[in-house]
Amino acid sequence: MPVIAVDGPSASGKGTIARALAAHFDLPYLDTGLLYRAVGLNVARSGNDPDNNTDARAACDFPDILLDDPELRAEATGGLASRVSIHPEVRAALLERQLGFAAQDGGAVLDGRDIGTVIAPDADAKLFITASPEARATRRFKEMVAQGEKPSFDNMLADIIARDARDTNRATAPLKPAEDALLLDTSDLTIDAAVQRAIALVSGKLEAAG
Ligand code: C5P
Repeated sequence: MPVIAVDGPSASGKGTIARALAAHFDLPYLDTGLLYRAVGLNVARSGNDPDNNTDARAACDFPDILLDDPELRAEATGGLASRVSIHPEVRAALLERQLGFAAQDGGAVLDGRDIGTVIAPDADAKLFITASPEARATRRFKEMVAQGEKPSFDNMLADIIARDARDTNRATAPLKPAEDALLLDTSDLTIDAAVQRAIALVSGKLEAAG
């Protein structure tokens, strides 16, 4: 059974695409960003410093119930996650859980930033999902307006650019496509079109591998 790795920056559509791939190929799915978000939220709620590696490492021993907390999905939690994810100690502490998920007998879909490069370098199919910062900020903006919030588009775009810079430039497991990843730019695609394209790319790759 295949392992499918889906990486890319925030709001690229990778979560929606990964979930759709998991449903299509009937595979279990892990959103690895949630693990980093749980660490970020845990450190903040403890009143500790996300930029301090000892504080961030201590926050990795979070209870599983935290993974169901709706605040994990908040924009601010994404920022905290990106700060704690810089620390190699944090990445090491979350490694085993992700490796175990990727190694299960039935295959799996994982999404994140380093799935194709670090967590599952031997994945059967790897996708790297991108979209322009403007397209991603526009999506986030519309989502928040639909939720009745009044976000500032400029702040949202600035946050996305800052998060990309942190994720791309960090020393350990930076955001970058694996050499054998298939690239999918969703800037000008609807969600449905992006999902169909992703299914076609992965199907083609799996069929080619026999
Ligand atoms: O994907 P999501 O936006 O939930 O991820 C939140 C943050 O967690 C990212 O900005 C990134 O810094 C970090 N992350 C990571 N490696 C992963 C998944 C997420 O560093 N595999």
